Amino acid sequence: EEDLALVEGRRRQAAEDLEAETRPVVAVVGRPNVGKSTLVNRIIGRREAVVEDVPGVTRDRVAYDADWSGRRFTLVDTGGWEVDATGIHLRVAEQAEVAVELCDVVLFVVDATVGATDTDESVVKLLRRSGKPVVLVANKVDDQKGELEAAALWSLGLGQPWPVSALHGRGSGDVLDAVLEHLPEKSAVSGAYPRGGPRRVALLGRPNVGKSSLLNKLAGEDRAVVDTVAGTTRDPVDELIELGGKEWRFVDTAGIRRRVHQTKGADFYASLRTQTALEKAEVAVVLLDASDKIAEQDVRVIQQVIDAGRALVIAYNKWDEVDEDRQYYLEREIERDLVQITWAPRVNMSALTGRHTNRLVPALETALDSWDRRISTAKLNAFLGEIVAAHPHPVRGGKQPRILFATQADTRPPRFVIFASGFIEHGYRRFLERRLREQFGFEGSPIEISVRVRE
Ligand code: GDP
Ligand code: GDP
Repeated sequence: EEDLALVEGRRRQAAEDLEAETRPVVAVVGRPNVGKSTLVNRIIGRREAVVEDVPGVTRDRVAYDADWSGRRFTLVDTGGWEVDATGIHLRVAEQAEVAVELCDVVLFVVDATVGATDTDESVVKLLRRSGKPVVLVANKVDDQKGELEAAALWSLGLGQPWPVSALHGRGSGDVLDAVLEHLPEKSAVSGAYPRGGPRRVALLGRPNVGKSSLLNKLAGEDRAVVDTVAGTTRDPVDELIELGGKEWRFVDTAGIRRRVHQTKGADFYASLRTQTALEKAEVAVVLLDASDKIAEQDVRVIQQVIDAGRALVIAYNKWDEVDEDRQYYLEREIERDLVQITWAPRVNMSALTGRHTNRLVPALETALDSWDRRISTAKLNAFLGEIVAAHPHPVRGGKQPRILFATQADTRPPRFVIFASGFIEHGYRRFLERRLREQFGFEGSPIEISVRVRE
């Protein structure tokens, strides 16, 4: 009976985790000072409204848990402008773009007492392009008199403007009803705003590198097996292991422990297992057999981690079998095959003897810190301004694209968007990435740079 209760508890936990991970996202966008934060506070029901009267206060996108009529969703406040006199239009658009990309429904807030401004109009264009459902909030309609002003916002072409007083609460229930009508059951951008819980680690590497040996070493006696979907044997099983005073969730350990007889299509199944583990993990430890040549399969697994955008630690296992000769050749192989990922922390260890396995936790923490890291727009642009001045993009065909502005659009992994006046060559992107790493580190995390061309 106790067992049944346990199974039931796990099943409920698994369902809750899944719900949290796929919870729909609503982004609140609009010009500064239209009342976005006031509205967010109203919706999440916070009494002490944290509202600033000063425009341009730096806030990043902040995600909150919200619910209405029994539906739960993530509410994202996009108050994070860094206004500067010259670049405000660009920045408003940029913030809106990022938030809109990562949401299911947009709450577009306009100040009805001011009416639609040019900036509002340009945000509308962007919202249209996104194809996301938009609910238009005509804010600061504190009394009935204001409803006429609200109606004027039909001109924006976004359908019905909902008259609201975020300050006093007037009309906010109707707006939320309208949001619910557009809210999908499951988010199309799930994972954009991840939840807490123990950090999730995947142990990866080709057969026989020592994954299960390492798992046994780390887990020791007291390991908790977590059935993600209890009662079925096919589903991946995670294990909670306490290391360095913290709990870690090792994902899909069943795939490691169940030593599948791999005859045909071994490569295919190995890569499939890697992929499913990566879906669930935040960080991967890729084990390499240091006593053996680096294989093509090793490089492939590492590439899979990078492509999945997960943090990465490389463990050179079986170090107990590495003599001076082998060490020499190993370093040469690393230079040849892994030179692109010198940013990944490296741990030389032995799962057999346990030597230096305690260095994994600090390496994991470093990698995850980088993965979570956000560089402020001000810092980023100050740095970019310097390197672009010193090393401008080469002139091609009489043209030279200018870098206008950059922002870190996302974390996990850090993703940068650079706005430029023309096409940026691959080589120059690589140069920028190298410099970004030199300046800001990001040890253990892949970083992405995308370029948007603005005429
Ligand atoms: P944000 O920059 O868009 O997040 O705007 P805030 O939420 O910080 O609000 C800017 C100013 O507008 C603050 O002084 C708010 O008190 C005020 N405000 C917000 N909503 C309303 C409203 O519904 N009615 C009135 N009269 N003022 C509001
Ligand atoms: P998996 O297939 O990646 O899970 O690899 P296993 O953990 O099953 O290890 C494969 C073989 O390598 C076993 O015989 C292990 O005892 C051995 N092995 C694992 N780690 C080490 C190590 O650090 N040093 C040495 N010498 N052998 C190891």
